[in-house]
Amino acid sequence: MNSGKTPGLYIHIPFCLSKCHYCDFYSSTSISAVPDFLKALVKEMKMYRNMFDVFDTLYIGGGTPSLLTPSQLEDILTSVQKNFDFTSEPEISIETNPADLDRPLLESTREMGINRINIGVQSFDEKVLGLLGRRHSAKQAILAIEASRKAGFQNIGLDLIYGVPGQDVNSWLDTLRQAVAFSPEHLSCYQLTLGAKTPLGVRYQAGEFLMPGEELQYEFFIKTSEFLEDAGYIHYEVSNFAKGTKYVSRHNQKYWDHSPYLGLGPSAHSFQPDRRWWNHRSLDQYLAAIKAENLPVEETETLTMEQLRLEALYLGLRTKKGVSLYDFKNRYHYDLFAEKKEMIDRLQEEGLISIQDGRLYPTQTGLAVADSLALI
Ligand code: SF4
Repeated sequence: MNSGKTPGLYIHIPFCLSKCHYCDFYSSTSISAVPDFLKALVKEMKMYRNMFDVFDTLYIGGGTPSLLTPSQLEDILTSVQKNFDFTSEPEISIETNPADLDRPLLESTREMGINRINIGVQSFDEKVLGLLGRRHSAKQAILAIEASRKAGFQNIGLDLIYGVPGQDVNSWLDTLRQAVAFSPEHLSCYQLTLGAKTPLGVRYQAGEFLMPGEELQYEFFIKTSEFLEDAGYIHYEVSNFAKGTKYVSRHNQKYWDHSPYLGLGPSAHSFQPDRRWWNHRSLDQYLAAIKAENLPVEETETLTMEQLRLEALYLGLRTKKGVSLYDFKNRYHYDLFAEKKEMIDRLQEEGLISIQDGRLYPTQTGLAVADSLALI
């Protein structure tokens, strides 16, 4: 299967200065290993030099990329340019923690050509930030957003979390109100999930607090969507909102429509039709593999047509633009409408999907329960 789509490049910076209480992403707080990691990253780039065509997005995520110094970030971008080709106007994004966003870092990231900044605000409520174990205050978040604008960022995304224990819908809407006041071009609103081994997960299992039940979660979701659509945002994916189609994340779109992507750094995933592979999660194993001149790949899987189909449907129904029945048939050799007519009729009756102009769309309620919408 050749998707004919332009690939995206992802770089995972696996370091954080401290661990947030809800997070079970892989990241290390041993920042003395940063120089070794950066050397290994450059070697990994060289290993993939000729494997992918021209990219049109670069996403520097983590972990916390903003804990790197401006010159370390510049070295990464210089190596990226040496090893990979890009289209003329690539989307170049960086994930940041508000506590790190001082003027020198912001100005140098702009000068390096980074044109999209994601700020991990999570909440404007100090109590929520404390419970989540974030290392920044609401005040720092406000200053970081203002400083990003002043530094010339015209594409600012704010990451927020709802469904925090003890939070009610009104206090969450308060955070949204404050976020929207800055007119960010993009908002990601994630429902809090607790890994069992995280400090908050352990406290939850010990019965220290309750998590919002299904009904309350649904209310959070619907109120978020209504509030942000009223404020002029497009709710284009379960957790993502953009101030117009121009600001939809081009990079994240690649994960949802089976475009190829290359992921570098520990735990990063890559996809090239019809193969997916992922790197060692642990920094030590990643460094050891590169030192031995091997790709740091932990595992590779070849996806069958049926797996691809399932994924395409699952991911497509998490987006507002849904799934084109015609494209689906061409790409995955499956006539969804003919093969799954009964199921489609039932989901339509339940108000979870609709069909218009040859596309299958999730309704607002369908988006809220998108995780359970796969049909085949
Ligand atoms: S900053 Fe992000 S990656 Fe790091 S611990 Fe917090 S949530 Fe996890």
